[in-house]
Parts: sequence; C-alpha cells; structure tokens
Amino acid sequence: MNRILVIRLGSLGDVVLATPLLRALRTAFPDARIDALVKPAYAPILQGNPALSAIFTTETFASRSRYDAVIDLQNNLSSRRYRRVGEKIFAYRKENWKKFLLVWFKINLCGDYRSVAERYALAAEPLGARLDGKGCEIFLSEAEIRFGLSHRTHASALAVCFGARHFTKRFPPERFATTLNLLLERTTLDVWLLGGGDDAPFADEILRRIEKKERVKNFSGRLSLRESASMLAAADAALSNDTGLMHVAAAFQKPIVALFGSSVKEFGFLPYKTRFEVLEVAGLKCRPCSHIGRASCPRKHFKCMMDIPEARLVEAVEEALRHASRKSEWARDAG
Ligand code: SF4
Repeated sequence: MNRILVIRLGSLGDVVLATPLLRALRTAFPDARIDALVKPAYAPILQGNPALSAIFTTETFASRSRYDAVIDLQNNLSSRRYRRVGEKIFAYRKENWKKFLLVWFKINLCGDYRSVAERYALAAEPLGARLDGKGCEIFLSEAEIRFGLSHRTHASALAVCFGARHFTKRFPPERFATTLNLLLERTTLDVWLLGGGDDAPFADEILRRIEKKERVKNFSGRLSLRESASMLAAADAALSNDTGLMHVAAAFQKPIVALFGSSVKEFGFLPYKTRFEVLEVAGLKCRPCSHIGRASCPRKHFKCMMDIPEARLVEAVEEALRHASRKSEWARDAG
C-alpha cells in the first residue's frame, strides 16, 4: 500500500477517536502516503499529526486523486461520494441496528464494551494495522502549550465542557453552577468554561449563578478549536458532558468526570485510555432514548440528568483533581 486515505468527516469526538488508528497505519506503512479527509471545522485537530502526510477537507479534496486503499470510518452517503477514489475500500461497520434495538426495544446485543477507537481499527485489520494500546493524541506546538498554561493562576485548574449539540446530552446549566459553587467553597482552583459559539448562552446561564465570579473564566465561543485544546492540555481535570471536547481532554490523558444523560456506554464513546468516572442514572428504564441526543426529553422529567446529584459531581471532581496531583508528583519524582 503506497497511498492510503482515511475518511472521517466529523464530528470532533469521532475524529479524535480515529487518531490511534492513524498511528497504527503509520507504524504498519512507514513509507506510505497516508492522508485524512475531514470537514473543514475538524481539520485543525489533526494538524501536526506525524502519522499523516496531508489533511484534506471536503472543500480541498480533489476527486481525481487515486488511493490504493480508502478506510471509510464514516460509512454513510456523504463519505461514499469520496471513497470512490480507492482501489480497495475498507469500511467501518457501524452496526446501527444494535443501537436501534437498544434505543427502541432496550435489547442489548452490544456485548462487552469496545471503544469506537477500537471499532475503527477493525476496519483496517485486513491491512495488517494493529493498535498499540495507547490513547488518542493531538499535537500542539510549544506556543500553543504556553497559551493554555498562561491562564493558570492557582495550583489547580478544572476545565468544564458544559455544552453539547443536543439538549438530552447537556447537564442543566443551573446544576453546573450549583456544582461549581460547592466546589469553589471547598477548593481553590481555576475554573474554565470551554465550548463553542453555540454553547455561549449556556455559559452565560452558568456564570449568572456563580458566587465567586472572579474564579470562573468563560472561554466559550472565544477560542479556536486548537486554543480550546490547549486549555484542556493545561487543565488538571475535566468535567464534561458526553461531547467532542471530552475526547479532546482524553487525548491529553486528563482525568475526566463524564456526565451521561440520554446516552449510554454501549455506544462506544467512553473517554479512551484515560482515567475517568461516568456519572449517570443507572437502571433508568427510558435510557437510552436516542443514540445521538434529542432536543427535549420525550418523558418530560429529564431524570437521566436531573437525578444525578451535584454533591456526587463535587466528590468525583475532587477525586479527579487528587488523581492529577498524585500523577504530577510521581512525574516530578521520576524526572
Ligand atoms: S430521562 Fe429518559 S427519556 Fe428523558 S432524555 Fe433522559 S433518557 Fe431520554
């Protein structure tokens, strides 16, 4: 194989979860040309990745290109348009029927947990590419690393990824605010609110209720994707909804407290190869009610998020921060 194209058009979490496979391909084919094709919004997250020869977007990709192999990790109508450039095509098996059975009939045929990162790798197994057991990765320049670190003013920093595209994947902003007020009463730390422009109104809702406003900085909608990544690289831990930035935090091996509302681990999106704790309402019969997320709770009670007590979030975040501090002590002792 001299020319390989990997297609994963979006979204953010999926592109990050494809990075262990990119590394595996580079190991298996050290001299090959390995390109990635993503939507323009997600190209920055692959910038600097040494496994890649080039990053194309749906705007820059030339349909006359030819590849020996195309690995289609998207495997839908959009990606099929592009994968015709490959002599051989290896497509990710989405197994949407299993998600359908789980969402609509609560029949779980998903078996033992397997991360989407590992499911992606199955698509490339016939090529002889094998995962190395390490996590996802994002490559920042030294200046980008300094950018994140320059915002630290206390011994600890917590990144809060409070947004998500769909309502049922968002822990309510007022409950994030209660959690942060409790935390800030007990601990001295920087709190950074991270999110895209669409998340900005929720950041305002959180901030309005924060008592120690000087301790919470709102970066939502104000940073590029790579700047947000550099903030996550500089944080000690992340408190996050089940969303793309959670996987960015995992790519820097940050301890994560993850909030799962209408989604469940069976979909394969737990943080990959980092320490994490999932807070969820186990045993709630209506979960999962969607594999993507919904604009409102079909049962109206929204128990999957409302029944997660803020005090549990505080405990979990404090444990994540303690873990981060132990890890940096070990690193100091070892270094
Ligand atoms: S409470 Fe149940 S029905 Fe409502 S959003 Fe959560 S999982 Fe879906």
